[in-house]
Amino acid sequence: MIELKSKREIQLMREAGAILKKVFVAVKPMVNEGITTEALDQVAEKVIRDSGGEPAFKGYRGFPKTACISLNEAVVHGIPSARKLKAGDIVSFDAGVKLNGFYADAARSWLVGAVDPKKQTLIDVARQSLGAALAAYELGWRIGNISEIIQQYVEDRGFQIVRDYAGHGIGRQLHEDPQVPNYGKAGRGAKIEAGMAIAIEPMVTEGHYAVETLEDGWTVVTKDRKNASHYEDTIVFTENGFMNLTSDEVF
Ligand code: MG
Repeated sequence: MIELKSKREIQLMREAGAILKKVFVAVKPMVNEGITTEALDQVAEKVIRDSGGEPAFKGYRGFPKTACISLNEAVVHGIPSARKLKAGDIVSFDAGVKLNGFYADAARSWLVGAVDPKKQTLIDVARQSLGAALAAYELGWRIGNISEIIQQYVEDRGFQIVRDYAGHGIGRQLHEDPQVPNYGKAGRGAKIEAGMAIAIEPMVTEGHYAVETLEDGWTVVTKDRKNASHYEDTIVFTENGFMNLTSDEVF
């Protein structure tokens, strides 16, 4: 069942989203050669707790850390560790915040060190595919309209979109209805209504979209071990448009 949010609830989610924006501002400049992914995680946790929030992922189904940090062929759910970043690593950084009973969820992918145009494009396409869907948004859409634009944007640029994981409704729970697949057809799925809050999260692969989970039980990697990127924002739809609760970027 899809729970539509009131204006007051949207305001609470906006405050949770503002903490995630602060996390990205703090972590992004630290994404350099030699730092461990655990050090990035510690900064994220401190920013969240100092802001009065709780890390939404820590303890979720036993996940041990604040952020999911997934490198290179890892798509999502990587566990922060003593692994030091190297030049050329793709760092996909995903975090959630709970504040006043409401959640926000967002992810960014960054490249460590010298610019690698191919990897940078892989990263940019994940962000831009979300932007393309939002820029095209019209009243009356269904979830499938978002899915189709993301898939087409990514595939038109020679990349693929992961099937096994999807975006999701969000609010009083980290994961709510509806599912928001990153592939599909316009006109299908739940109708978008004012008060619907969803996390849209394209997961883009350089090679084939098939993924598998490593023995740690968490880290999702591409089966062909080619690189991946991930981008996510929490979006709430209103009577005449939408608000992005986790980014100030204008699409
Ligand atoms: Mg999510």
